[in-house]
Amino acid sequence: MNQPIRLDVTTAHQAFTDHAHFRYRGCAPDPDQPHLAAGDHTVPVTSWEAPDLDGGEAPAVRTAREQAAVEVCVGCPVMVQCLAYGASLTRDGKLAEPYAVLGGMTPMERHRAFVAYKTALQEMPQPAPARQLQTDQKLVVLRALAVHTSPQAVADAAGTPMRTANWQRSILVGKLGLARPATRMQLLTAAAERGLLDGVQVVPDDGSVPAVPRPPHRPRKPRRPAGRLTVVALPEPGPYEPARVPSLRRSRFTDIAGQLAFDDLAPDATIRNLPTRARVLEAAA
Ligand code: SF4
Repeated sequence: MNQPIRLDVTTAHQAFTDHAHFRYRGCAPDPDQPHLAAGDHTVPVTSWEAPDLDGGEAPAVRTAREQAAVEVCVGCPVMVQCLAYGASLTRDGKLAEPYAVLGGMTPMERHRAFVAYKTALQEMPQPAPARQLQTDQKLVVLRALAVHTSPQAVADAAGTPMRTANWQRSILVGKLGLARPATRMQLLTAAAERGLLDGVQVVPDDGSVPAVPRPPHRPRKPRRPAGRLTVVALPEPGPYEPARVPSLRRSRFTDIAGQLAFDDLAPDATIRNLPTRARVLEAAA
């Protein structure tokens, strides 16, 4: 079970008091009536702290006082920072503020949470020394597990019965300090962090092939090597000879009934010296 990180009291108190909304906290003294809380003018500012009374405080009075304070906390703009401060620890690992209502929690609620936190810490498995992990059988099972996903394939690759492979896998989970049950990838990640999988390519659970970097770019070969290029001498430019346009003159003049063929009028016509309409009409007349 993952436990939230508890800050040290100095860091937590600074984050709390440096917050931009700290001055608007619900338990701050009201400017006009300093004995009452700014968040609720019916609640005394002393409600957040245990009163220093001879003979103590009656349980019912205390419960009512703390409940009123908690209700103000619920609307407080710095409740999260205040709760982090309320959960912070001293250097010797004790609750920094054991008596106050803080962050919407009574002292008793915060104390219970602190006990649960310490119990969980004690129950968390601690990583074993490296020499306990680097036995031949553990390493061979671990490396088989890095490549195979099914228990039978792992056992076959490790050359052990499946029961032995599973047992070694279970031992590894504990000795790597992982919470049970740990997934295959959690186990392999922890093992890689301890240097037990150096040089081993881990195959993901989905069996996908790890990405392989692209080969370095090689420039494309030129189609014709520079040494084989030949220089061809172009002929000297002669007089300008525009192209003839037979299709133009035929489509324009030969298909119209009653008109002369264009070839008869201008046999040497080119795109530049096409006869004008006036010349055609003059020749036809
Ligand atoms: S959350 Fe903290 S700062 Fe806000 S009112 Fe409660 S005790 Fe005061």
